[in-house]
Amino acid sequence: MRFHTFLLKYGEIGIKGKNRYLFEDALVRQVRRSLRDVDGEFVVHKSQARIYVDCEGDYDYEEVVEHLKRVFGLVGICPVVRMEDQGFEKLKEDVVAYMDELYPDKNITFKVESRRAKKSYPKNSMEISRDLGEAILDAFPEIRVDVHHPDVQVNVEIRNEIYVYSQIIPGAGGMPVGTNGKAMLLLSGGIDSPVAGYMISKRGVGLSATYFHAPPYTSERAKQKVVDLAKIVSRYSGPVRLHVVNFTDIQLYIYDKCPHDELTIIMRRYMMRIAEHFAKEEGCLGLITGESIGQVASQTMQSLAATNDVCTMPVYRPLIGYDKQEIVNISEKIGTFETSIQPFEDCCTIFVAKHPVTKPNVEVIRRSEERLSEKIDQLLREAVESVEIIEVGE
Ligand code: ATP
Ligand code: MG
Repeated sequence: MRFHTFLLKYGEIGIKGKNRYLFEDALVRQVRRSLRDVDGEFVVHKSQARIYVDCEGDYDYEEVVEHLKRVFGLVGICPVVRMEDQGFEKLKEDVVAYMDELYPDKNITFKVESRRAKKSYPKNSMEISRDLGEAILDAFPEIRVDVHHPDVQVNVEIRNEIYVYSQIIPGAGGMPVGTNGKAMLLLSGGIDSPVAGYMISKRGVGLSATYFHAPPYTSERAKQKVVDLAKIVSRYSGPVRLHVVNFTDIQLYIYDKCPHDELTIIMRRYMMRIAEHFAKEEGCLGLITGESIGQVASQTMQSLAATNDVCTMPVYRPLIGYDKQEIVNISEKIGTFETSIQPFEDCCTIFVAKHPVTKPNVEVIRRSEERLSEKIDQLLREAVESVEIIEVGE
């Protein structure tokens, strides 16, 4: 069946009162963006609290649906057949043909729901529903009407043309990106942080990202993996400005000066400080990490407190209460899993101690950091100044 239009349903943004148009406009922008790289000509417009994508010429149905399913803020995607208004008798024939093609098995229940957006149409919506329902019943002896819980609800909208749809493909949910500011994602090559970025972005938040690498201890390929992950996340979140920070000298200096069982915590504190610096520069309103309570030594409640201690911005940890398997499930759903499990070294794993502290004391950690006072400011400045910025998903 050839669909000429997609009717896009949105949820939460419907309740935003007079700010509603801001949300709708953001949604229209994101829908346009999602279809930018799809072959075909797509006209996205809003009309009477609905968003439509009119497809001109040839296009790949699966591809369009795939792209629309990544737009936060959409709860349903309805493929629509557009019919010219050539009188009611012709409409009956067309709707019967539509049912026949889309539902080869007629052992189903249905109802027709009509909307008359064009008030000059000679029948009212009740009459349209009733008469089309009758035509369908006449055409297919096995089919039955169920007005309360039909298997299929056939929606008929009378506009300049007539729109017929009955399928609703679930959308991504959430809020349109750009309606809730921006945050800085600490993005590693692991499974968790891309999922964390996805989850915060789902609430309408745009993303920037910071990745710490430690050449030559970490390879170019490990960095490319993070760029690839940022690219997958950007399909949902929109463009991501990825800050690649050379962390080697800071790590070596910490390794040289501080107790080895505290390395990971101290290193993570410097990561947060640097990420926050770029976050401020970018106008971000918070940091995002993929941390989850108890997952590793650096994510016990005490470790999280010690890491959090250096941040002045809110740190969003959307995976905080998730088990690993739950995180894996999301990463598979959003398409980051296969990339995340590629085996490349991570800067954190290179300098880890055999027995890291699991209950760090913030005061003790602060005192250990005093041992870095001679050179750390200089090293931080160098790390910040030598940042490489990669625009991902533009
Ligand atoms: P992930 O799967 O996201 O790598 P993880 O389970 O390996 O997480 P940690 O290595 O303890 O956990 O890191 C916790 C969080 O710190 C990560 O989710 C990420 O947000 C951030 N992080 C860790 N390493 C880096 C890095 N090299 N660059 C940027 N952020 C990092
Ligand atoms: Mg990691």
